[in-house]
Amino acid sequence: MAVVARPAAKSASDRFAIFKEHLRRQGHKSTSQRDDIAHVFFASKRHISVEELYQAVKQINSRIGYATVYRTMKLLTECGLAVERHFRDGEARYEGTEGQHHDHLICEQCGKIVEFEEPRIETLQGDIAARLGFRFTGHKMELYGVCTDCQRKQARGVREARVLSRDYS
Ligand SMILES: [Zn+2]
Ligand SMILES: [Zn+2]
Repeated sequence: MAVVARPAAKSASDRFAIFKEHLRRQGHKSTSQRDDIAHVFFASKRHISVEELYQAVKQINSRIGYATVYRTMKLLTECGLAVERHFRDGEARYEGTEGQHHDHLICEQCGKIVEFEEPRIETLQGDIAARLGFRFTGHKMELYGVCTDCQRKQARGVREARVLSRDYS
């Protein structure tokens, strides 16, 4: 089996240096607000929305506004440190690019996002692209469904409803 080389994960300080370099090259001012936002993002959970990030950033610096968080995420995306994702709920979410390629499984009820990678899917896509004459450059896959927890909650709800209708009918 072929071994895929994984690029070494970049530390938060490496990523911060890339961000600073990007700001400098693009002629953007480097501000302490932008720095705070970048630090919070690098330490945050995956698939974070601007609103969630804004709430987290406010804990550190209450003067930072939503628009600054939004613009800083655009800058982090420009320099390849973040990817913007749009799942079905429509809210943009950002994730760091330090991880490997992966796909997403999303719960339609609680919004939980699970990451997975399936080599058979990866291979199949290359085959399909080749068959249709495409040079394959990448893909995005989102599977939607109901997670185990939500299924359990639903099953419990159905059981309780049955008990109720038995008692009161
Ligand atoms: Zn769920
Ligand atoms: Zn992800």
